[in-house]
Amino acid sequence: MSEAAARAGAILTVDLDAVVANWRSLRDRVAPAECAAVVKADAYGLGVARVVPALAAAGCTTFVVAQLNEALAVRAVAPDARVLCLGGLPAGCEDDFTANRILPVLNHLGEIAAWQAYARTRGERLPAVVHIDTGMNRLGLGPDELDRLAGDLSLIDGIDVQVWMTHLACADEDTVMNAQQLGRFRSALGRLPAAKASFANSSGIFMGPAAHFDLARPGCALYGVNPTPAGPNPMRDTIRLDARVLQVRNVDSPMTVGYGATHRVAAKGKIATIAVGYADGYLRSLSGRGNVFVDGVPVPVVGRVSMDLVTVDVSHLPDGAVAPGGLVELIGPNRPVDTVAAEGGTIGYEILTSLGARYHRVYRDPSA
Ligand SMILES: *Cc1c(COP(=O)(O)O)cnc(C)c1O
Repeated sequence: MSEAAARAGAILTVDLDAVVANWRSLRDRVAPAECAAVVKADAYGLGVARVVPALAAAGCTTFVVAQLNEALAVRAVAPDARVLCLGGLPAGCEDDFTANRILPVLNHLGEIAAWQAYARTRGERLPAVVHIDTGMNRLGLGPDELDRLAGDLSLIDGIDVQVWMTHLACADEDTVMNAQQLGRFRSALGRLPAAKASFANSSGIFMGPAAHFDLARPGCALYGVNPTPAGPNPMRDTIRLDARVLQVRNVDSPMTVGYGATHRVAAKGKIATIAVGYADGYLRSLSGRGNVFVDGVPVPVVGRVSMDLVTVDVSHLPDGAVAPGGLVELIGPNRPVDTVAAEGGTIGYEILTSLGARYHRVYRDPSA
């Protein structure tokens, strides 16, 4: 083990081979449509600087982020990629888009007008993606704005609309809303000039070919979150989190463990204290919830998760099975991200995007 790993409380292992394998399986599923990779929020916590080059080497040519600073971080490691920025056009930042060849996703008529005006000052047609809202009511042209645009296409003169896109509200559920959004998107496309179209996120891809259009935008599935929560996970797990045991102590009734004295010891036993906490993204809502694993044996979390520490009941392990310096599995084959999320009352996305800055990170490179 490296010195840096020895100093760290916990070690996060990122399997880039699994990320690439997940992208390839989605690419094959959506072909002949193109498969982008959504890498917002530092590639869902896994690290843009490592994930993007691995996916680019595997043939991914389009990357999607939420914010302009994220787009610049992608550009820095992927000089030739197409980069889409979902969050639109921050005022006064137009030059950053053209200088770094980043495509703004224009979300309302105000942004369309701003991009058009900027294109006019440059005397050239400028590329963009335009977001049509079909029911999310968050970003994108609403029905009234769509009517205005369809009724006056001069509003996009000077803009090279490369992609019309929309976003599903309930992609991971089997609801009528998916068909409604599909219908609204098709009808919008019929009223607008021809360009490529983009509809599906990870779960949307599993709605079938009618949802694939020209460009799919998977995020979570690349990183191992189950895009089909009603069934088994078709994706490979991509991360493993192991944290160090700091101390093992003997306890007995009527002692309590941790803040708030929420865990009452019922009988003679042993508590191991582990070097991970909510400051690392091990959510406080995991207090007293779920099991971590010592050599594959489940060990219940007891008491509150604190900023830097978690306590687990190891009474049932033989003496010596757990000792200071040893590692316990918090996320991994025995406890996948979606399981941790369910135990913490959240979704896999939040577990991934909360992964802490204190972890020592180890990247396993893709096999050729
Ligand atoms: C985050 C995001 C995605 C990716 O969604 P997943 O559910 O992670 O696959 C796709 N499109 C848009 C507009 C997004 O905001």
